[in-house]
Amino acid sequence: LLAFHAEYAWLGAAEPATDVLIEVEDGRIASVTPDAAPHGTRLKGLTLPGFANAHSHAFHRALRGRTHGGTGTFWTWREQMYAVADRLDPDTYHRLARATYAEMALAGITCVGEFHYLHHAPGGTRYADPNAMGHALLTAARDVGIRITLLDTLYLQSTVDGAPLAGPQRRFGDGTVDAWRDRVAELKDADGVRIGAAAHSVRAVPEAVLGALPTDRPLHVHVSEQRAENEACQAAYGCSPTELLHRNGALGSTTTAVHATHLSTMDRRTLGVAGTAVCLCPTTERDLADGVAHAGALAQAGSPLVVGSDSNAVIDLFEETRGVELHERLASERRGHWSAGQLLTAATTVGAGSLGWPETGLLVPDALADFVSLRLDTVRLAGARPETLLESVVFAATGADVRDVVVGGRRVVAYGRHVLVDDVPGALASAIRAVLP
Ligand SMILES: [Zn+2]
Repeated sequence: LLAFHAEYAWLGAAEPATDVLIEVEDGRIASVTPDAAPHGTRLKGLTLPGFANAHSHAFHRALRGRTHGGTGTFWTWREQMYAVADRLDPDTYHRLARATYAEMALAGITCVGEFHYLHHAPGGTRYADPNAMGHALLTAARDVGIRITLLDTLYLQSTVDGAPLAGPQRRFGDGTVDAWRDRVAELKDADGVRIGAAAHSVRAVPEAVLGALPTDRPLHVHVSEQRAENEACQAAYGCSPTELLHRNGALGSTTTAVHATHLSTMDRRTLGVAGTAVCLCPTTERDLADGVAHAGALAQAGSPLVVGSDSNAVIDLFEETRGVELHERLASERRGHWSAGQLLTAATTVGAGSLGWPETGLLVPDALADFVSLRLDTVRLAGARPETLLESVVFAATGADVRDVVVGGRRVVAYGRHVLVDDVPGALASAIRAVLP
């Protein structure tokens, strides 16, 4: 039995509990006891469930800062992103993902959903291990001690009209849905690893195969991130991307629609009635000038909300989480759409569920022992009062306030340092240099 003693811990109420003893056995929480006498490893500050980053493309981390100058659109950004995609091999991808996931761990992320479409070698040829790139990602997550759901992504065509993959995109394609399914079947769940699925978008996956997508595990899809996708879908199919997914049975409670930026009221109702989650990625959406999803209307229609760091231009789930509320304020000219507790729930419990880890994201007995402690003596959080501590954290904390991270009872970050990766900034710099000299 391991024991952790949290100065404050958020157990779901509007205010955190104090002096909380968390006992851990075999990687799971055995007991949670507030007002307990000090015992075991002291966790100073506020302890929260671990963060679930529901949408990541690890390799985009190499683009940070390099795509932010000048003008352009999502589509010009995509050209730069493809240039990096073209250079990676299983070894350089492993190094880049390992460093990126280590950065995530330092920011309090204990579970990542990797939306993985960079499957094959340049030109689309298969590696000797057809899952060499996926295995690079799984190994990277294991190296840094966080959980991963590999959302292996079906990507078959370049345009809604069925134009073939060209240039760097050829690495993304398996040719047919059967070939994709056979390759993914070789990937297995393991300790800390779950295999999910994704369809890149209604642009990259034709209607004929949408009905073949799995419904027995997490299925993520980019939906209506750009108006151009809606227009192309309307022209080809006479309906919206949401409607196209719906009429092919691809929406359900195991599905997560990523972005959901440009939706009609009917689209939002369709997602909500299906119980489909929506993953918002505010830092990426604003960086790429995507537009603002109507998060309030999505939630009201019934969609659980989760968050992701997507392009990893920033890795900070506090920033993503407050972005949900603050973008909605800008769009609606009203404040207070969600409580701090509801926003934290999106980033922890609900996010983990959308990645197929319903047994984590809560500080309760039998849950996986994944939790994060924040320092409260930093310049951002100094002066916070217990009664409004959650608001202080949601609206002012950053990943730099994370002090300790525990995954499955194992401390992977201690005193703000990664236990398994000596020099995370150094690892990032050298991994990025290897792909963008
Ligand atoms: Zn994405």
